[in-house]
Amino acid sequence: GGAGSLATTPKVGIAHERIVEEYRKREKEGKSELSLVVVGHVDAGKSTLMGRMLLELGTLSDREYSANERASKKIGKGSFAYAWALDSSEEERERGVTIDVAQDHFSTPHRQFTLLDAPGHRDFIPNMISGAAQADSALLVIDSIHGAFEAGFGPNGQTREHALLVRSLGVQQVVVVVNKLDAVGYSQERYDEIVSKLQPFLRGCGFDEAKTRFVPCGGSVGENLAVRDEGGELGAWYDGPTLVEVLDTLEPPRRNLDGPLRLPVTNVFKGQTAIASGVGVSGRVVSGIVQIGDRLRAVPGDESGIVRAIEVDSDSVPWAVAGNNVTVYLSNIDVIQIAVGSVLCPSNAADVVELCDTFTAQLLVFTPTYPLVQGTAVEVFHHSAEVPGKLVELLETRDKSTGHVIKRHPRVLSRGTTALCRIEVRSGGGAGKRSGVPIESVDKCKDMARILVRRDGETVAAGIVVETHPAAPAGA
Ligand code: GDP
Repeated sequence: GGAGSLATTPKVGIAHERIVEEYRKREKEGKSELSLVVVGHVDAGKSTLMGRMLLELGTLSDREYSANERASKKIGKGSFAYAWALDSSEEERERGVTIDVAQDHFSTPHRQFTLLDAPGHRDFIPNMISGAAQADSALLVIDSIHGAFEAGFGPNGQTREHALLVRSLGVQQVVVVVNKLDAVGYSQERYDEIVSKLQPFLRGCGFDEAKTRFVPCGGSVGENLAVRDEGGELGAWYDGPTLVEVLDTLEPPRRNLDGPLRLPVTNVFKGQTAIASGVGVSGRVVSGIVQIGDRLRAVPGDESGIVRAIEVDSDSVPWAVAGNNVTVYLSNIDVIQIAVGSVLCPSNAADVVELCDTFTAQLLVFTPTYPLVQGTAVEVFHHSAEVPGKLVELLETRDKSTGHVIKRHPRVLSRGTTALCRIEVRSGGGAGKRSGVPIESVDKCKDMARILVRRDGETVAAGIVVETHPAAPAGA
């Protein structure tokens, strides 16, 4: 059927107002849901810390036992694994397999977390990006050992890059774990020194200072994760919250339930599960509502399919809303019509995601090895898609903290500046298909506007799209 006849198909299913009402009710009664990405320099102790914390959480409460236990068992098998990513990277790369962002769940007394595993190895920055792009909050793990903090915070350290990256991708809250304090004799002086160096830096990244929390921990010895040894060396000077207590008070972000559905695709598979057959499509709902019976269009492309089943956290559900990580099973659509990086949206003309091939973005420039000039060829990362592009016009650079224009039409984008830049992408098209990428401007949908700019495997900038220019129609 053509798009015209579909647009007039009467809407079946549950009214959106009723879903929103039900969702708000559940939110009040139950635990708030948040997703968390764990980042930091390699060897900062991320996997040790998370493994230990999940084990301790598993023994805290009977009610939450099973979810936490399941997560910690997985760690035992090494599937939460920065280490795993390092070990298997060579083989995985040889086989050309992309490593998915693994998801696990854990809960604290008032929060239910989806843990987005973001391998910390340099080569795995793309994976970290898709983890961070889906996260509401980040745990930044810092190695407090003398020399190690300095290395991680230095020019080639990942502390800076990861913090900038998660902020640029829209993560608003960061919890900084000042880790391995056991190795520095739980020195308050060392802790204060690290906090005082990180605070201005994180503020400069754009994190709200009032929301940024610091927690002293010893991950491998289990100090101040779920419990603290009050009579111990840390207890002698620290009487603040434990890591679990801090996580338990993180603010759930406001979900955009009113906008049209936007479901950027992170995984597509063909097959049969206990629940449904058809094309399985996973991703995070960034805007709107999806329910069984909906007709969804996969963009780029002109094909649409019908939602037969929806899974959230391995449970079959009738609907899901913005903020949920879902798998939807579609019928009446061929698996080749959907790719990682596609976006599922409503099929009616008014709510379809438009494709664009040129856009203007506000970029935060990291520390590129070679200067970024007009005409530089780049790769543009949008959700899980990477497309070739070009910096076609450098419009202006601005001071990062004041926002004042430093220079119009600069020759180069220097490191650490904020810049307005026009970018052209080359993607898709061919055989009657329109070219372009499903990017939207920030005023339409914030979560559809985030991009990263990479060159030769190096992340050189990140930012948001402020204006899009529609792609040429098919055959043009
Ligand atoms: P990741 O690369 O950030 O995941 O770091 P790992 O968890 O693999 O830890 C890196 C190294 O630091 C390992 O040798 C750990 O034994 C050690 N380590 C991790 N956490 C702590 C800690 O809290 N204190 C001390 N002293 N060593 C730790």
